[in-house]
Amino acid sequence: MADCIFCKIASGEINAKVVYDDADVVAFLDLNPQAPTHALIVPRRHIDRLTAAADADAELLGKLQLAAAKVAKVLKVEGAFRLVTNNGKGAGQSVDHLHYHLLGGRKLLWPPG
Ligand code: 5GP
Ligand code: ZN
Repeated sequence: MADCIFCKIASGEINAKVVYDDADVVAFLDLNPQAPTHALIVPRRHIDRLTAAADADAELLGKLQLAAAKVAKVLKVEGAFRLVTNNGKGAGQSVDHLHYHLLGGRKLLWPPG
């Protein structure tokens, strides 16, 4: 999608510190980390947000989850991490391309703010 920063990162048009990628998914370090380990896991194909996903995207959504587990291992936080998506502006979504935040490397409080 034109003018989508995460589409551009997925295509390589914009640089990012990629920590995992495969045919459907790319993961890279967040530019403004909220924890010692903070990666973003995104589908290569543009989907605005989780609520914009369709039943036909079920396999892709599963791949995102499995990719997140691999990213946690690559970044050595598989024992303790949080995976979260901000769906909509009111939840803090600032980039309209579905992404999961993977946070780790510090104590993660619950409930989150
Ligand atoms: P959101 O607020 O939509 O849930 O998360 C968007 C995330 O993308 C933010 O944590 C922000 O720091 C990160 N981000 C925004 N632009 C870029 C970029 O150009 N490169 C990288 N690596 N992260 C970005
Ligand atoms: Zn996009």
